[in-house]
Amino acid sequence: NVYELGERGFTYAGLKESYGGNLALSWSYHGEADGFLVYDMSENLIYETRNLHQHYFVIRGYGTENGFIIKAYIDTLKGRMSVAETKPIYLQVQQYNHPDVSLVIPVYNAHVVDLLNKQGACLVGKASMDEFAMGSTNQTALTGPVYNPWDRTRIAGGSSGGSAALVASGVVPFSLGSDTGDSIRKPAGFCGVVGFKPTWGRISRYGVIPYASSLDHVGAFTRNVRDMAIVMETLAGHDERDMTSSIKEVPQYLDCLDENIKGIRIAVLKTVSDEVENSIIQDNFNRVVNVLEELGAIVENITMPIELLKAVLPTYTILANSEATSNLACLDGIKYGHRRDGKKIEDTIIRSRTHGFSHQIKSRLILGNLALSYENQERMFVKAQKVRRLIVEELNKIYQSYDIILTPNSGIIAPKVKQVDNQYTYESTILENHLILGNLAGLPSLSLPSGFVDGMPIAVHLMGRIFEEQTVLNVAYALENILGLKNQYSREG
Ligand code: GLN
Repeated sequence: NVYELGERGFTYAGLKESYGGNLALSWSYHGEADGFLVYDMSENLIYETRNLHQHYFVIRGYGTENGFIIKAYIDTLKGRMSVAETKPIYLQVQQYNHPDVSLVIPVYNAHVVDLLNKQGACLVGKASMDEFAMGSTNQTALTGPVYNPWDRTRIAGGSSGGSAALVASGVVPFSLGSDTGDSIRKPAGFCGVVGFKPTWGRISRYGVIPYASSLDHVGAFTRNVRDMAIVMETLAGHDERDMTSSIKEVPQYLDCLDENIKGIRIAVLKTVSDEVENSIIQDNFNRVVNVLEELGAIVENITMPIELLKAVLPTYTILANSEATSNLACLDGIKYGHRRDGKKIEDTIIRSRTHGFSHQIKSRLILGNLALSYENQERMFVKAQKVRRLIVEELNKIYQSYDIILTPNSGIIAPKVKQVDNQYTYESTILENHLILGNLAGLPSLSLPSGFVDGMPIAVHLMGRIFEEQTVLNVAYALENILGLKNQYSREG
């Protein structure tokens, strides 16, 4: 039951201090105001910011342990549309904003929202994200950038950056995000919280706007592993409205949480970990390896062919953008998306898309179209699918002998906002892209806070066999007990 979550819930001060000038939330619920209002539990207004954006923001003080946030990609019956932080949808919402906003409120809840509601959890708002979940920085959201609550000159990471920042600053005990390449685990590591996406198909995606369907996962952020077990138990399971959701029974993750990991076989993927240049991150990673050995796990070094690891980013880029092109084709201004009328239907589509999508989205969709075009399909899209298969087979080989693959989550701390103007500059290496392995193979993957560098959180990454979420949670739980980094907040709220 989600009531059991966390030791502290909603903290207003965390919200106020971290987000005084910035918007980790893109929509919130219950009433409207021209600005961002925070109420205490007796409904007294305790904090107000006006004219931050054209949006309306209100948070009512649910002030309990079970408030939660979802990424602005997930549909909800109550409250606002899933804006995906993009103009085509946002402008469409605005068109209808007056007089009757209910026109653009989704007509159903995402499955995950229904499940949480059933448990008595209370939705507080929808979190900011990179436009269409395409990005790693949360600097490309329509509602503005999200900063790192540990240091506001740094990025929170993305694309689920709002969800990460709101948990890291103590606003809510958990939040939901989506992860197509690493969009939960990267920001979780940068923000010092636990981030987990289970096996592909373990959680229903009904009501979640798709990015790349063969890679998309719903997952969560929490401040400790036990909370993650609770949230996962709530969200996992079959949903007949999502034909990709698994019929496998859901184990009782919480009851089965076990810090005894004697005999668990852990593979340290040296091809990735050797790439770390920062000596504190390297020492921290070695310490984690030692702790696991002391706990009785069997830890061994392994490698993967470097050419396969180098192929991870290009393979992902082709597949993700191709699938996105197909998924987002409906945003043509005819039935979906903001319309800019032209003389002919083609002009309308061109004008709507030209006006609606940002430069980075356009370049991704053009790339996707290129890879899917008749002339290129075989040598781009189909080839990428074949390379994906080779990567998955290589991972399957490793899982014949090991239960977990262990790597550093990243070789850096959250970059300065100024350093990431070009979203790709900090992440074109094997080290910064290997989390995508978890998406290509659909593996349960978790990032766990493991220490600090210059006052900024760093993390390790644990990846298990498909549907063996429990092993991943148990190893993380055992590690967390020793590392002593659970329930971290960026500041005292
Ligand atoms: N950074 C990756 C991308 O931009 C991952 C995004 C995601 O996981 N949603 O596509």
